Amino acid sequence: CGIFGVFNNKSAAELTFLGLHALQHRGQESAGIAVSDGYDINVRLGQGLVTKAISDEDLKELKGDIAIGHVRYSTAGGSNPKNIQPFFAHFYGGSFAIAHNGNLVNANSLRTKLEKEGAIFRSTSDTEIFVHLIARSKNPPPSHINLHKNDTEFLPLVFEAMGKVKGAYSLLILREKQLIAVRDPFGFRPLSLGKNKSGSYFFASESCAFDIVDAEYLRDINPGEVVVIDDAGIRSYYPFEYPQNLKKCIFEFVYFARPDSIIFKDYVYEIRKNMGRNLAKEYPIDADCVVPVLDSGLVAAMGYSEESGIPLEIGIIRNHYVGRSFIQPTQEIRDLSVKLKLNPVRQAIEGKRIIVIDDSLVRGTTSKKIVNMLRRAGAKEIHMLISSPPVISPCYYGIDTPTKEELIANNMSIEEIKNFIGADGLNYLSLEGMLDAADKTKGYCTACFTGIYPVLDEEELVLSEKK
Ligand code: 5GP
Ligand code: SF4
Ligand code: MG
Repeated sequence: CGIFGVFNNKSAAELTFLGLHALQHRGQESAGIAVSDGYDINVRLGQGLVTKAISDEDLKELKGDIAIGHVRYSTAGGSNPKNIQPFFAHFYGGSFAIAHNGNLVNANSLRTKLEKEGAIFRSTSDTEIFVHLIARSKNPPPSHINLHKNDTEFLPLVFEAMGKVKGAYSLLILREKQLIAVRDPFGFRPLSLGKNKSGSYFFASESCAFDIVDAEYLRDINPGEVVVIDDAGIRSYYPFEYPQNLKKCIFEFVYFARPDSIIFKDYVYEIRKNMGRNLAKEYPIDADCVVPVLDSGLVAAMGYSEESGIPLEIGIIRNHYVGRSFIQPTQEIRDLSVKLKLNPVRQAIEGKRIIVIDDSLVRGTTSKKIVNMLRRAGAKEIHMLISSPPVISPCYYGIDTPTKEELIANNMSIEEIKNFIGADGLNYLSLEGMLDAADKTKGYCTACFTGIYPVLDEEELVLSEKK
């Protein structure tokens, strides 16, 4: 998912719409915007792309200077319209809206506990846990940190909720007169702060959303940090003493984030290109050209081409009027959309030995179709190179990887996958090579490639596997 927030701007809703549009690649299933005029919070939600989900009418009605927005693709909770964010709630101290990127690993047990205490959930999303934890908390434990007078009432509720949830969460919370940003202590998902020339503040999952509203990237929200903005200024809190044990999602660099973004304080473009360079160092192959699987494989393919000296050819064209094939919920639609999306350029590949570069191989269905397509278009030899290691385990932190059974690298050896997709060769970037591209000292989660999870709730996993 993608989240975006604005503080102190007359066009808060419109700018949020633009910000969400720039974050569209992070979720295409639904979108929503919540705006405060200082007294009341108004929310508009819809299904599909931002331009479809939020109408001109909606934007006109969303009056106010503070806003948050969300683009969703379903991980926990499925594609139920009730799960569209931001969520809105009244509580004894007023009201708030919340937008979440990430996934909680102890959602089921917290939910059961809250339900036993009388909470009524209206969605199946783990994000609603935050709503209930915040709204139901009456006597939060006293905070050991000095709170600004504007923060004494609400922030302890947020801190208490943070103390109970486990997993990945980058959050934006809108209050009548405040905007709050939260990042989990492991820092799984990105979130950063920006500012424009007229003094409006912005929060966004990726910095490409600042560019579209003419704001400047200021800094990352730090893991475990809570940032509050209101008329009294901008304040930062670290409610807990966390171990300095960062687990930033490496898959953001591999695939998810846009190459024109800064996330986790680094340029996605540079790191993705390094992954391609490292792939060339690990697998020097004698070939006539390098063909990227657009769009996600492009930057790594450029890195490979630069490092190896083998020219890059656009041997496959992508039709941009179709969404990301993975994000469409059913297999039937996914099957169709590969063809709708990609078409070979015969002139570029006929009679050639080609290296095809994609960012990841998950189910293997896309790669199989691509190889088949290139073969029919006359490619002489097809070497498939993947700029990340085999995905062997699901993500529990907010990226929608399929179940373990559906992950091809979990069922087949690399040789078997090569035969399954019909390529003449198949190689993956090593774990070392991937981490080296991103500077391994910086602390990354690699669980989907290694099966080693930084935070898990065992009980919870048994439950979710049964579902
Ligand atoms: P496969 O060959 O496994 O069927 O598909 C791999 C392709 O799926 C890659 O091109 C990758 O960019 C794309 N992809 C699109 N969305 C996702 C996603 O949410 N997760 C993963 N892991 N890959 C995705
Ligand atoms: Fe990212 Fe993979 Fe970790 Fe999920 S399991 S947070 S996709 S690195
Ligand atoms: Mg792709």
